[in-house]
Amino acid sequence: MTNPSLPTELVMISAIEHYSYCPRQSALIHVEQTYDENIFTMRGMRMHERVDSADSAANRGMTTLRALPLWSDRYGIHGKADAVELHDHGPYPVEYKSGKRHGPHADYQLCAQALCLEEMFQTVVPRGAIYYGATRRRYEVQFTAVLQQQTIQIIAAIRAMLTQQHVPTAPNDERCPNCSLINVCMPFVVAESARLRGLQGALFIPLEAGDA
Ligand code: SF4
Repeated sequence: MTNPSLPTELVMISAIEHYSYCPRQSALIHVEQTYDENIFTMRGMRMHERVDSADSAANRGMTTLRALPLWSDRYGIHGKADAVELHDHGPYPVEYKSGKRHGPHADYQLCAQALCLEEMFQTVVPRGAIYYGATRRRYEVQFTAVLQQQTIQIIAAIRAMLTQQHVPTAPNDERCPNCSLINVCMPFVVAESARLRGLQGALFIPLEAGDA
């Protein structure tokens, strides 16, 4: 029997990083199922092909699980971990990114992976790491109570967006030139249309009696 207090609309873990970067980007992918292959996505795919061997391998005397399916009934999320290292102190998720670090967006994705691992392994997962291909460095992320709370809030916001099938308008700001969906999103056109609609609406505001 299903537990009525558990979330029924499942959220993909990958949506969390997208939403943190731009809610519209997340909606285009997860509400409208949009995908645009370009230089950003191809770099990411090449990086993941190198790590997604989908089997376990011994790495410096430590077992690493690759492409590990993840889920959490409690938070209603699911996805896949690029790699989970099995340290003496417990599982340690590692996410691979082809570029360099741009803010905390991937931290939320990694934190959601840790929430899944805690539920799956019935243990505490205090930290993990993001490997950035552009700098060839690992960045360690501590899963603090604040980061966990922010991640849970993002999951709730995505769930509301999916339930309402809502696609936010384009902010058309400094995020757009680096966005993999710029060609399908067309933020300049969308932002301009919204501005035009506002101007058109203002043209047809009826005059109050006595204004004429
Ligand atoms: S192009 Fe800009 S507005 Fe559109 S999804 Fe990307 S970041 Fe968001």
